[in-house]
Amino acid sequence: MARGKKIYEGKAKTLYEGPEPGTLIQYFKDDATAFNAEKKAIVDGKGVLNNRLSEFFMEGLNSIGVPNHFIKRLNMREQLIRQCEIVPLEVIVRNYAAGSMSKRLGIEEGTQLPRPIIEFSYKDDDLGDPLVPEEYIIAFGWASQQEMDDIVALALRVNDYLSGVMYGVGIKLIDFKIEIGRVFEGDFMRLIVADEISPDSCRLWDIESGQKLDKDVFRRDLGNLTDAYTEVARRLGVLPTNGPAAANSVIN
Ligand code: UDP
Repeated sequence: MARGKKIYEGKAKTLYEGPEPGTLIQYFKDDATAFNAEKKAIVDGKGVLNNRLSEFFMEGLNSIGVPNHFIKRLNMREQLIRQCEIVPLEVIVRNYAAGSMSKRLGIEEGTQLPRPIIEFSYKDDDLGDPLVPEEYIIAFGWASQQEMDDIVALALRVNDYLSGVMYGVGIKLIDFKIEIGRVFEGDFMRLIVADEISPDSCRLWDIESGQKLDKDVFRRDLGNLTDAYTEVARRLGVLPTNGPAAANSVIN
């Protein structure tokens, strides 16, 4: 499918104009970044795996009626998505303490939280995506109160779906980040899950061993990131067969 002109280049993905109005092509790069891009590397095959994994999760969400931007995968690195207006928030759902929450509150990583906790960061790289209370979001007009209620409901549905799918393959969903977009249909506006869902934006721990299978492998130098993501894809049946040769043939 012919790609239109580049409209946005992010850290891990590039967006191009799609074949029809209201569509975009999302290209998954191999670039890995952490700590607001202070740490960078090219990780061979990461884009291919995240394209596949995001397809898998978004299709799963579609099948249970959670609206999202995914239309279809086009090839190894590209998918066709619905264009939307991104709400400038990172919506983070936590089931177990980890990362910035553990640091901020001194709670040991892996401690189960009394219930899923949702928090919001304002999307601004120059500011380092600061954590913001809902009151700021409403007051500054980044989203309305009604939208925030809908965003919380969407985030909890995504959490239930992802936790269940992961639990089924022996993986604990510690936390994750999603982004939300607005789509306009005539006089109506609705919210959809956008961006991507992949091990770049989740924390995934093996239930038995506690082994990390997500971007913390890169952030904390814990081993080979492609191997970790390949393991997630293999367990979910996203790779054609189980052997490493098959995984490589998908990546190359
Ligand atoms: N996260 C993300 N993008 C960001 C910040 C966080 O995808 O810009 C994800 C991160 O991978 C983790 C969850 O959101 O799954 C919570 O991240 P946390 O606030 O603990 O931040 P970190 O420790 O990664 O700085």
